[in-house]
Amino acid sequence: MRNVSLEQTKLKLTQVIMWPFCLLSSMSILALGFSKGAETLYFNLSYLWIIACLLLFERRFTYRVDWTRTDGQTGANIYHTLLNKGLVQVAVVLGISTGMITTQEEAFLSDWPLALQVLLGLITSELGLYWAHRCSHEYPYLWRFHSVHHSVKRLWLVNTGRFHFIDSIISVLASLPFLLLCGISTDAIVWVSAITAYIGILTHCNADMHCGFLNKVFNTPQLHRWHHSINSRIGNSNYGENLMLWDQIFGTYYYKEDSAVDVIGIQEKMPSTFTKQLLVPFIWNRYQDSGEDADTG
Ligand SMILES: [Zn+2]
Ligand SMILES: [Zn+2]
Repeated sequence: MRNVSLEQTKLKLTQVIMWPFCLLSSMSILALGFSKGAETLYFNLSYLWIIACLLLFERRFTYRVDWTRTDGQTGANIYHTLLNKGLVQVAVVLGISTGMITTQEEAFLSDWPLALQVLLGLITSELGLYWAHRCSHEYPYLWRFHSVHHSVKRLWLVNTGRFHFIDSIISVLASLPFLLLCGISTDAIVWVSAITAYIGILTHCNADMHCGFLNKVFNTPQLHRWHHSINSRIGNSNYGENLMLWDQIFGTYYYKEDSAVDVIGIQEKMPSTFTKQLLVPFIWNRYQDSGEDADTG
């Protein structure tokens, strides 16, 4: 009896610790990279680290067993991720490194403590991300692109980068100007981008994390699962990418402690292959009205 309760206590503690552990340990690796002047290399190491942790946690502390079964979308998820990160984000990095996108003249807050700059960067860029995301749910034409992300029927870390590249471009255009113009240093921008990457992969993981009061402040797996509900009355909520601040202010925060999301996905049809998923937003009505039954399930 005592052993059982000890095991339960250990499990509960692990469930509470997993989310902050992944975030803080990844941030520590990046901080080490900054101290060595090798932040790009160490960011990549930290990202590999968080992937390794989540693979382990998804296996050891699975949230939903039915989400561990293959849905035939792993290849499409990886292709979208490579196209998304590979083209859109590399374009941004190239823009900053070649001086086409510059922060130097605008970095009038660079003498502020770094943590404050990062906080300001998170809050301001989040405003753009929030409205871009909310518009992608509320405007049917934008939903065509964003529905590619929502069309999966299970959540796990490989879904993280599954975005139509037009959807990614919209997010970058909506948030990057805020980030560049809010006056923070390039280092702070790197921190904001890294934290966004860490929180993004955490929100999609299939590990049973219990985030408690953190659910009020940050976007967590517990909140993001509601956002993926097939019921749009529930899913049109929790738009924040990192923070819940703007959801709390604009009334779109949703969390029910004693229940869990049931079916996730979209009401519309989505083709199963990567190339068709790229094409389908442009021929949306024709595809929806067609007899073709190429559901992602
Ligand atoms: Zn969404
Ligand atoms: Zn998502």
